[in-house]
Amino acid sequence: MAGGKCLALIAHDQKKDDMAEFARRNRETFASWKIVATGTTGGRVIEAAPDLDVTRLKSGPLGGDQQIGALIATGEVDALIFFVDPLTPMPHDVDVKALMRLAIVYDIPMALNEATADKLIATLHA
Ligand code: PGA
Repeated sequence: MAGGKCLALIAHDQKKDDMAEFARRNRETFASWKIVATGTTGGRVIEAAPDLDVTRLKSGPLGGDQQIGALIATGEVDALIFFVDPLTPMPHDVDVKALMRLAIVYDIPMALNEATADKLIATLHA
């Protein structure tokens, strides 16, 4: 993925430390990319890698997942990295499912855990 492309980042609460570290670790790769993120995730990413171009949307439970879904539907997101917590029930579970559905509908690359995200980033960066 060359510069100017857009990556969406979301992490559930138990995965936010992992996402912050993931962003820090990949900050050079992400330097020429635009990042959109749900509110709290975006805040953690900015703390971890302050030089990145991060747009923070609403927090996931308040509509942030749906905002990212809308950006996918309008063709503005090139890849989605979503560190899902599989062990905690969430009130906005329907939004999470809807977002994944749109990533499938629009056939954009989507990584739901860190192992896949690493491979996705390596592929996009190649
Ligand atoms: P958050 O939202 O980054 O604002 O916590 C993520 C989510 O729970 O969907």
